Amino acid sequence: MRTAIYPGSFDPFTNGHLDVVQRAARLFDRVIVAVAQNEDKAPLFTLEERQAFIKQSVADLAHVTTDVLDGLLVNYVQKQAAQAVVRGLRAVSDFEFEFQMALMNRKLNDHFETIFMMPKGAYTFLSSRLVKEIARLGGDVSAFVPEHIQAALLAKFGKAATR
Ligand code: ADP
Repeated sequence: MRTAIYPGSFDPFTNGHLDVVQRAARLFDRVIVAVAQNEDKAPLFTLEERQAFIKQSVADLAHVTTDVLDGLLVNYVQKQAAQAVVRGLRAVSDFEFEFQMALMNRKLNDHFETIFMMPKGAYTFLSSRLVKEIARLGGDVSAFVPEHIQAALLAKFGKAATR
Protein backbone atom coordinates (compact mmCIF):
# COMPACT_ATOMS: atom_id res chain seq x y z
CA MET A 1 0.00 0.00 0.00
CA ARG A 2 1.76 3.16 -1.16
CA THR A 3 0.47 6.40 0.29
CA ALA A 4 1.16 9.99 -0.73
CA ILE A 5 0.27 13.12 1.17
CA TYR A 6 -0.56 16.26 -0.80
CA PRO A 7 -0.40 19.12 1.70
CA GLY A 8 -1.43 22.71 1.13
CA SER A 9 -3.74 25.56 2.06
CA PHE A 10 -6.09 24.98 -0.89
CA ASP A 11 -7.83 28.34 -0.36
CA PRO A 12 -9.58 27.42 -2.57
CA PHE A 13 -8.79 24.18 -4.43
CA THR A 14 -8.17 24.93 -8.14
CA ASN A 15 -8.01 22.97 -11.36
CA GLY A 16 -4.23 23.09 -10.98
CA HIS A 17 -4.46 21.31 -7.63
CA LEU A 18 -6.88 18.81 -9.18
CA ASP A 19 -4.43 18.15 -12.00
CA VAL A 20 -1.70 17.32 -9.46
CA VAL A 21 -4.07 15.06 -7.47
CA GLN A 22 -5.04 13.16 -10.62
CA ARG A 23 -1.40 12.58 -11.52
CA ALA A 24 -0.56 11.45 -7.97
CA ALA A 25 -3.57 9.13 -7.95
CA ARG A 26 -2.08 7.27 -10.91
CA LEU A 27 1.11 6.58 -8.98
CA PHE A 28 -0.13 5.80 -5.48
CA ASP A 29 -2.64 3.42 -3.91
CA ARG A 30 -3.83 6.14 -1.57
CA VAL A 31 -3.59 9.92 -1.82
CA ILE A 32 -4.50 12.11 1.13
CA VAL A 33 -5.09 15.78 0.39
CA ALA A 34 -4.13 17.35 3.72
CA VAL A 35 -5.52 20.82 4.33
CA ALA A 36 -3.47 23.13 6.51
CA GLN A 37 -5.23 25.75 8.58
CA ASN A 38 -2.63 28.38 7.66
CA GLU A 39 -3.76 31.30 9.84
CA ASP A 40 -0.73 33.28 8.63
CA LYS A 41 -2.32 33.61 5.22
CA ALA A 42 -5.74 34.66 6.68
CA PRO A 43 -7.70 32.18 4.57
CA LEU A 44 -10.85 33.26 2.72
CA PHE A 45 -12.58 29.93 3.33
CA THR A 46 -12.73 27.99 6.60
CA LEU A 47 -10.93 24.71 6.99
CA GLU A 48 -14.28 22.89 6.78
CA GLU A 49 -15.25 24.72 3.58
CA ARG A 50 -11.89 24.03 1.96
CA GLN A 51 -12.14 20.36 2.86
CA ALA A 52 -15.69 20.09 1.55
CA PHE A 53 -14.63 21.71 -1.77
CA ILE A 54 -11.89 19.11 -2.18
CA LYS A 55 -14.14 16.21 -1.22
CA GLN A 56 -16.59 17.14 -3.94
CA SER A 57 -13.81 17.75 -6.49
CA VAL A 58 -12.23 14.32 -6.01
CA ALA A 59 -15.48 12.36 -5.53
CA ASP A 60 -14.77 10.24 -8.63
CA LEU A 61 -11.28 9.27 -7.45
CA ALA A 62 -11.91 6.32 -5.14
CA HIS A 63 -8.56 6.25 -3.39
CA VAL A 64 -8.25 10.00 -2.79
CA THR A 65 -9.37 11.31 0.60
CA THR A 66 -9.05 14.60 2.48
CA ASP A 67 -7.92 15.31 5.98
CA VAL A 68 -6.87 18.18 8.19
CA LEU A 69 -3.17 18.77 8.59
CA ASP A 70 -2.23 20.13 11.95
CA GLY A 71 1.24 20.22 13.36
CA LEU A 72 4.38 19.31 11.53
CA LEU A 73 4.05 17.71 8.12
CA VAL A 74 6.78 15.18 8.91
CA ASN A 75 4.81 13.93 11.93
CA TYR A 76 1.66 13.64 9.86
CA VAL A 77 3.50 11.66 7.17
CA GLN A 78 4.72 9.27 9.84
CA LYS A 79 1.25 8.93 11.38
CA GLN A 80 -0.18 7.96 7.99
CA ALA A 81 2.77 5.66 7.23
CA ALA A 82 3.12 7.48 3.90
CA GLN A 83 6.02 7.01 1.48
CA ALA A 84 5.83 10.41 -0.17
CA VAL A 85 4.77 14.02 -0.05
CA VAL A 86 3.54 15.48 -3.32
CA ARG A 87 3.94 19.14 -4.21
CA GLY A 88 3.19 21.02 -7.41
CA LEU A 89 5.78 23.00 -9.33
CA ARG A 90 4.44 25.67 -11.62
CA ALA A 91 7.45 27.74 -12.51
CA VAL A 92 10.99 28.44 -11.47
CA SER A 93 9.56 30.84 -8.90
CA ASP A 94 8.12 27.90 -6.90
CA PHE A 95 11.42 26.12 -6.90
CA GLU A 96 13.46 27.86 -4.23
CA PHE A 97 10.83 27.67 -1.50
CA GLU A 98 9.88 24.09 -2.36
CA PHE A 99 13.52 22.99 -2.51
CA GLN A 100 14.17 24.50 0.91
CA MET A 101 11.06 22.88 2.40
CA ALA A 102 11.79 19.47 0.93
CA LEU A 103 15.34 19.44 2.23
CA MET A 104 14.31 20.71 5.65
CA ASN A 105 11.66 17.99 5.86
CA ARG A 106 14.27 15.42 4.89
CA LYS A 107 16.48 16.70 7.69
CA LEU A 108 13.59 16.22 10.12
CA ASN A 109 12.63 12.80 8.79
CA ASP A 110 14.59 10.88 6.17
CA HIS A 111 11.99 8.15 5.69
CA PHE A 112 9.92 9.65 2.92
CA GLU A 113 10.47 11.43 -0.39
CA THR A 114 9.08 14.72 -1.67
CA ILE A 115 7.86 14.34 -5.24
CA PHE A 116 7.23 17.31 -7.51
CA MET A 117 4.62 17.28 -10.21
CA MET A 118 4.22 19.72 -13.06
CA PRO A 119 0.62 20.49 -14.00
CA LYS A 120 -0.76 20.72 -17.49
CA GLY A 121 0.67 23.81 -19.25
CA ALA A 122 -2.63 25.67 -19.04
CA TYR A 123 -2.48 25.61 -15.23
CA THR A 124 1.09 26.77 -14.77
CA PHE A 125 -0.02 30.37 -14.21
CA LEU A 126 -2.85 29.41 -11.86
CA SER A 127 -2.81 30.10 -8.13
CA SER A 128 -5.46 30.28 -5.41
CA ARG A 129 -4.37 33.83 -4.73
CA LEU A 130 -5.03 34.93 -8.33
CA VAL A 131 -8.35 33.11 -8.46
CA LYS A 132 -9.51 34.97 -5.33
CA GLU A 133 -8.31 38.27 -6.74
CA ILE A 134 -10.10 37.76 -10.06
CA ALA A 135 -13.33 36.64 -8.35
CA ARG A 136 -13.20 39.56 -5.94
CA LEU A 137 -12.93 41.99 -8.84
CA GLY A 138 -15.82 40.38 -10.70
CA GLY A 139 -13.89 38.31 -13.23
CA ASP A 140 -14.85 34.91 -14.63
CA VAL A 141 -13.02 32.07 -12.88
CA SER A 142 -14.93 29.21 -14.51
CA ALA A 143 -11.82 27.96 -16.33
CA PHE A 144 -9.79 27.83 -13.14
CA VAL A 145 -11.88 26.09 -10.48
CA PRO A 146 -14.53 23.35 -10.36
CA GLU A 147 -18.11 24.63 -10.72
CA HIS A 148 -19.10 24.26 -7.06
CA ILE A 149 -16.10 26.35 -6.03
CA GLN A 150 -16.96 29.00 -8.57
CA ALA A 151 -20.43 29.13 -6.97
CA ALA A 152 -18.89 29.51 -3.52
CA LEU A 153 -16.69 32.36 -4.72
CA LEU A 154 -19.73 33.98 -6.25
CA ALA A 155 -21.60 33.68 -2.96
CA LYS A 156 -18.65 35.13 -1.10
CA PHE A 157 -18.08 38.14 -3.33
CA GLY A 158 -21.65 38.72 -4.38
CA LYS A 159 -22.98 39.76 -7.74
CA ALA A 160 -19.69 41.27 -8.89
CA ALA A 161 -18.42 37.81 -9.72
CA THR A 162 -21.09 37.28 -12.39
CA ARG A 163 -20.03 40.26 -14.48
P1 ADP B 1 0.69 26.24 0.19
O1 ADP B 1 0.13 27.28 1.08
O2 ADP B 1 1.21 25.03 0.90
O3 ADP B 1 1.62 26.74 -0.88
P2 ADP B 1 -1.26 25.92 -1.89
O4 ADP B 1 -2.65 25.52 -1.73
O5 ADP B 1 -1.01 27.29 -2.44
O6 ADP B 1 -0.60 25.69 -0.52
O7 ADP B 1 -0.50 24.89 -2.82
C1 ADP B 1 -0.36 23.55 -2.47
C2 ADP B 1 0.58 22.89 -3.46
O8 ADP B 1 0.01 22.89 -4.74
C3 ADP B 1 1.94 23.58 -3.61
O9 ADP B 1 2.92 22.60 -3.84
C4 ADP B 1 1.75 24.44 -4.83
O10 ADP B 1 2.98 24.68 -5.49
C5 ADP B 1 0.86 23.54 -5.66
N1 ADP B 1 0.06 24.26 -6.63
C6 ADP B 1 -0.69 25.36 -6.44
N2 ADP B 1 -1.27 25.76 -7.59
C7 ADP B 1 -0.87 24.88 -8.55
C8 ADP B 1 -1.09 24.76 -9.95
N3 ADP B 1 -1.83 25.63 -10.62
N4 ADP B 1 -0.51 23.73 -10.58
C9 ADP B 1 0.28 22.86 -9.90
N5 ADP B 1 0.54 22.92 -8.60
C10 ADP B 1 -0.01 23.92 -7.93
